[in-house]
Amino acid sequence: MVIAIDGPAASGKGTLAKRLALYYGLPHLDTGLLYRAVALTLLDAGRDLADEAAAAAAAQSLSPDFLGDPRLRGSAMGEAASIVSAQGAVRAALLDWQRRFAGAPAGAVLDGRDIGTVVCPDAAVKLFVTASAEERARRRHRELGGRGEPVAYEAVLADILRRDARDADRDAAPLRVAEDAVVIDTTSLDAEAAFRAATRVVDGRGGERG
Ligand code: C5P
Repeated sequence: MVIAIDGPAASGKGTLAKRLALYYGLPHLDTGLLYRAVALTLLDAGRDLADEAAAAAAAQSLSPDFLGDPRLRGSAMGEAASIVSAQGAVRAALLDWQRRFAGAPAGAVLDGRDIGTVVCPDAAVKLFVTASAEERARRRHRELGGRGEPVAYEAVLADILRRDARDADRDAAPLRVAEDAVVIDTTSLDAEAAFRAATRVVDGRGGERG
C-alpha cells in the first residue's frame, strides 16, 4: 500500500509519516530531504541556488548516503530547498527516484508537497496535513527554542508564509490538495489525535499493521 502525505511546512506531516510507516511496517521517504540535499550540494560547491544546470546535475547524481547529513535539517536549508524545488529539471530528475522508492513490494509512505498529485497519483491513501500558519509557526518556534536556536516568533511566521507562497505559486508541481485526498487539519489536534485520524483513513482502505 502506498500512503502519500502532503502538506505545507511545519504541518506535522513528517512526524505523522514516520509514525504511520512504523505502525504499518512500510519504508518511509521524507522527500523534502531530496530537495534539501540538492540545495546543500550546490551551496557546498559554491554555486548559486538559481543555477539551473548545476541544480539539475546535482539532482541527477544525488546519493542516498547523503540524506543522513545533519546539515540538511534546519530552516535555512528548507528555504534553500524551496528555491531549487521550483526548477522543473530538478523535479524531473528526482521523480524516478521517488517512484522507485514507492514501488517497493509492500508499498511505502512518502511525504512532501506533490506526492498525491504528481509522484504517486494512484496511491491507495492520500492525506493532506495542514494547520493554520500561526499554529505552524508556534510549533516551529517551540521546536527551535528547544534545540537551543531561539528565533523571534514573527521571524518564524514570516519564514513559513514565504515558503507557503513559494511552494503554492510555482509552476512546477505546486502545493495543492489532490482531489481524492483526505484533509487532516491539525490546528487543534495533537500528534496522537492526528495519528488516530490518519489510521482511521488507512484502515478504512484496507491497511494492515506490519
Ligand atoms: O518538507 P521540507 O520542509 O523538508 O521541504 C523543503 C522544501 O522542499 C519545501 O519548502 C518545498 O519547496 C520542497 N519540496 C517539494 N516537493 C516535495 C518535498 C519538498 O517541492 N515533495
